[in-house]
Amino acid sequence: MRKEARYYESLTQEKVKCTLCPHNCLLKDGQTGSCHVRNNSGGKLYAENFEKISALHFDPIEKKPLYHYHPGEIIFSVGSVGCNLHCKFCQNAEISQTSVDDFLHLRNIPVNDIVNTALTRIENIGIAYTYNEPTVWFEYMVEIAVKAKIEGLKNVVVTNGFINKDPLVELMDYIDAFSVDLKAFTDDFYKKNTFSRLGPVKNTLKRIRKSDKHLEITNLVIPTLNDDKRKFSEMIQWIAGELGENTILHISKYYPSYKMTIETTPIETMMTLFDIAREKLNYVYIGNISTNKGRDTICSQCGQKVISRDGYWTSVNGLNKDGRCTRCNNAVAIR
Ligand code: SF4
Repeated sequence: MRKEARYYESLTQEKVKCTLCPHNCLLKDGQTGSCHVRNNSGGKLYAENFEKISALHFDPIEKKPLYHYHPGEIIFSVGSVGCNLHCKFCQNAEISQTSVDDFLHLRNIPVNDIVNTALTRIENIGIAYTYNEPTVWFEYMVEIAVKAKIEGLKNVVVTNGFINKDPLVELMDYIDAFSVDLKAFTDDFYKKNTFSRLGPVKNTLKRIRKSDKHLEITNLVIPTLNDDKRKFSEMIQWIAGELGENTILHISKYYPSYKMTIETTPIETMMTLFDIAREKLNYVYIGNISTNKGRDTICSQCGQKVISRDGYWTSVNGLNKDGRCTRCNNAVAIR
């Protein structure tokens, strides 16, 4: 089943302009947008991936990654197909860089069935929209999120942040926490390696920060492309200045995938960038490798370890019920 898209304008001669993401694709009758999943059919724009699921799992919330939101709990995670970016280093290209017709393992799952499955495990906190870019299945995601909220479940989005203002504002009515990729801090990187732009992602981050929603950022470090210390430092200053020093940042080790063959990020690079980030930000983590640094949560005021982690094992041992440090009562930016 497909669904008429929520964000588009009708133009002359059955052309449409999709207004969901900053690509603002202009589509003639029969054409599909850059995301592979929004198609103009007779002058109406349709989301082809409505109620189409490529993957679903109960995951640790740390896998999203979210370290300061319900630490140690699990979340029902669902994905579809398509993406509005075309990152050369995509780690999920088999579902993101494909269409409904080309991906052979899609399952048709109605909105109610997603929510009912989420409710089958009492310890599950909610639903995460993830794996491929969820904003390109906006209609399905919002319908699930509305019902999930009524059932008392939390809604979490894992996104590239390349979305226009109006749909983002609507989404924020239902979403409790955002995990957003900030892939680099130059427009040149975004254009050459993701076929998008940096500016709209920065706007998304600022809009989420102005709301009361939980936000964590992930930066994948790719040698020679976005590991320049000066540019990285500029990004950290922007995050601290615009989003605040308590903004949670995950710097993640890259491995060759999809079209990118550059070698894996050296551990020394990860350590150096971690130290730069920690000069301005209170909560910085290292992802995709096992290391003692950037793994646990340390109270920014008294230095007590408040959350211990080992892989996806998590122990919350230094927080009171309000998310404050048990030693000094500092608010540790945990929800
Ligand atoms: S969501 Fe898809 S069709 Fe719409 S503007 Fe973005 S890439 Fe184009």
